Amino acid sequence: MKRQKARRALNLKADPAKCKRCRRCSEACPMSLPVDAMVWAGKLDQLECILCGSCADACPEKAIRFSFDVPEKKKTGYNDTVKEVS
Ligand code: SF4
Ligand code: SF4
Repeated sequence: MKRQKARRALNLKADPAKCKRCRRCSEACPMSLPVDAMVWAGKLDQLECILCGSCADACPEKAIRFSFDVPEKKKTGYNDTVKEVS
């Protein structure tokens, strides 16, 4: 499905090494996502995630943070340089 392949610029990143497995992130998630398991897997890209930030706020170890991916410039095949003609 195309939507599943689309990358969101704003997303969450996890640092499993900081996680103490307290599950506060999962308890705070309004979407009832298994956030702790997602952190342990190092993958927080659930489509159901509404990016509310509650899990990051609830984590005492700061193992979850927001990240902003800047997409690569789309290659057009054209030379962007504009030459002036006299
Ligand atoms: S950002 Fe919100 S919806 Fe997404 S995993 Fe964290 S608590 Fe759940
Ligand atoms: S709240 Fe933080 S330390 Fe606790 S399980 Fe979630 S990511 Fe790990």
